[in-house]
Amino acid sequence: MLISVDNVSVSYEGKKAVDGVSFAVEKGDCLCVVGENGSGKTTLIKTVVGLQKRDSGTVSFYGLNRSEIGYLPQQTAEQKDFPASVFEVVLSGRLNRHGGVFAFYNAIDRKIAADNLERLGIARLKKRSFRELSGGERQRALLARALCATDKLLILDEPVTGLDPVMTAEMYAILEKLNAEGITIVMISHDMDGAVRYGNKILHMARSAIFFGTVEEYTATELYAGINARRRLGDLAV
Ligand code: ADP
Repeated sequence: MLISVDNVSVSYEGKKAVDGVSFAVEKGDCLCVVGENGSGKTTLIKTVVGLQKRDSGTVSFYGLNRSEIGYLPQQTAEQKDFPASVFEVVLSGRLNRHGGVFAFYNAIDRKIAADNLERLGIARLKKRSFRELSGGERQRALLARALCATDKLLILDEPVTGLDPVMTAEMYAILEKLNAEGITIVMISHDMDGAVRYGNKILHMARSAIFFGTVEEYTATELYAGINARRRLGDLAV
C-alpha cells in the first residue's frame, strides 16, 4: 500500500464537499477518479496532496513523503499566462525538495529537469516562453514539472481536459509508459472511456465515494451501465 485515505470529510463554509470518503492506492495503480462536476474530486485530491484542510479522517502514506508527490493541478487561466521559460517552469518542480522555500537549484535539480524534458519529448522547447505553448505542449511541460518531484507517485487533475483527440491520445500514451515504468498514478478524469481503458481502479465520487474498486468491477455495475445509456441518449440527441 502507498496511500490509505480513511473516512475523510471536507467542507467549505459549513457545507460538505467530501463526505466520509475512504480508498487506498497500491503501488503501480492507475486510479481514475470520476464523477460529475462539483462532486468533490478536486477537493479530495487537494486534501491528499496536503493543499486542503480536512474536517476529519486520516490520510496515511507508506514509504512515501508528501514532498515526493508529483502534482499536476487543474489548468487555470493564470497558469497559462505564467511568464517564465519552459525550463524554469519544469525546474520549479524541484522546489518541494528544498522545503518549498528557497529557489536555489543545484546541478542535480537542473539535470533532473533536463532529463524530464527529454523523457516527455519536449527538450527542444526548453527555452521557449511557457505562455506561448500549445495546450498539449503545456500539459507535457507541467507533467515534466510534476515528474521533477517524484519517481513514485503522480497525482493529476484532469490531465487531458481541453486537449484535442490527438494530444489526448499522446498524453495517455505517456501516462501508460510512466505507469509501466512503475510510477503510480492517481488521475481525475472527465473522460470515462479513457478512465476505464487506462485505469486499473476507479473511484466514483458523488460527495461520498459511490464506487471504489477495479475497472472490471466498475464496468459491471448499474452505475456504469446508466452512465453509458445516458451518453448514448446524448449522442442520439445531437
Ligand atoms: P469537482 O472537482 O468534482 O468538480 P470540487 O471539489 O471542485 O468538485 O467542488 C466540490 C464542491 O465544493 C462544489 O460544490 C464546489 O462549488 C465547492 N467548492 C470547491 N472549492 C470551493 C471553495 N474554494 N470555496 C467554496 N466552495 C468550494
